[in-house]
Amino acid sequence: MNVLLIGSGGREHALAWKLAQSPRLTKLYAAPGNPGIADYAECTDISATDQRGIIDFCLRNSIEFVVIGPEAPLVEGLADNLRTMNIAVFGPGREAAQLEGSKGFTKDLCSAAEIPTAGYVRVESIEGARAALNDFGLPVVIKADGLAAGKGVTIAYTPEEAEAAVADLFDRSGGEAVIEEFLTGEEASLFVLTDGEAVMAIGSAQDHKRVGNGDTGPNTGGMGAYSPASVLTPKLEREAMDRIIRPTVKALADAGTPYSGVLYAGLMLTDLGPKLIEYNVRFGDPECQVLMLRLEDDLLDLMLATASGTLADLPAPTFRDETALTVVMAAKGYPGTPEKGGTIDGIDAAEATGAKVFQAGTREEGGTLIANGGRVLNVTATGATVAEAQRNAYAAVEAVDFPTGFYRTDIGWREVEREAG
Ligand code: ATP
Repeated sequence: MNVLLIGSGGREHALAWKLAQSPRLTKLYAAPGNPGIADYAECTDISATDQRGIIDFCLRNSIEFVVIGPEAPLVEGLADNLRTMNIAVFGPGREAAQLEGSKGFTKDLCSAAEIPTAGYVRVESIEGARAALNDFGLPVVIKADGLAAGKGVTIAYTPEEAEAAVADLFDRSGGEAVIEEFLTGEEASLFVLTDGEAVMAIGSAQDHKRVGNGDTGPNTGGMGAYSPASVLTPKLEREAMDRIIRPTVKALADAGTPYSGVLYAGLMLTDLGPKLIEYNVRFGDPECQVLMLRLEDDLLDLMLATASGTLADLPAPTFRDETALTVVMAAKGYPGTPEKGGTIDGIDAAEATGAKVFQAGTREEGGTLIANGGRVLNVTATGATVAEAQRNAYAAVEAVDFPTGFYRTDIGWREVEREAG
């Protein structure tokens, strides 16, 4: 089977690596891909949001299945347009992708289906936002409604911060927002495949959003992750499946817009049980990298069953009985203005330690690998414990020569502390 993978990040490199292991794969293509993905796929210079270009490419190259990595093409309806052309797709259509595309949509769905989440008010003007702020104590959470690449959320600890956040938000986007109750607890992510009816949990992870050690500094797309997240115990996972995931899948099916793809639930593990913070309609980046390292089953089989509505026919997935941990190596300046153009060497040496290096913002020039974005490499390793996976990942990081890069040195710290007792 000819498969086209959409995207160019570390997430897509991990998906390409795993898809390439499937005996059902004839040829893998990627649009646009990156130099790491090129080890497994023929890359074509088509942007992930160029729908016309992607559809033309599928028709010209007898593509039978498209795997959509990032959220933007999903929210823009690429999956619907491919399905109209009778091309099978892994990923939800535009309507169901609103779970990520509109925070207000998700909050209303949660409210109607009685899904545990933070109390909220949707607002459409700065006056409405100011009035809503009076309904909440401090801290309070202020979120832009649409996709904001992790930059649309403010946690305000004082009335002045709240006022500044709403002023900034309506000044910048002018659009809708959600004002939300602040939840306390530890965060964990749960990943679930669904074909619109059946659901299959395929792993948990904990990511590290802040740029600095000890979870300090500005938010990023993610500086590292590990899987499984043992704070999400089997009991809590069952609770999240029963009270959050299944009612969501049912609500979308009942609305005539069934969800097909991977559903990524960002959860807050509160004293009252798991509550939904947000949904994403694709794999997390870098969480995907750790999930793929643990998954033992054929990813293409799982994705095809998801797309064809036959997930219930598959047995429960199996995972390596190990922890996987990934460290993001970013270009200096990230998440502000990353320094592009730095050279990268030593990936072979890093992989010789047993780790896997997934590439994100890289390009190749005359046989040299060059940093070409904020997050550049995801150095990923496994171990019997989080502490061991952490040691293995950092041993591989040490072997990478990337003078204009930096990384956090404490990925997995919460769990490492717990393991140490
Ligand atoms: P990202 O793109 O980074 O996944 P996002 O912009 O879609 O984020 P959310 O995931 O909703 O936004 O929020 C980002 C972060 O803000 C969460 O991971 C969490 O740490 C914090 N947060 C969001 N909502 C709440 C809440 N109600 N209570 C406490 N913290 C929250």
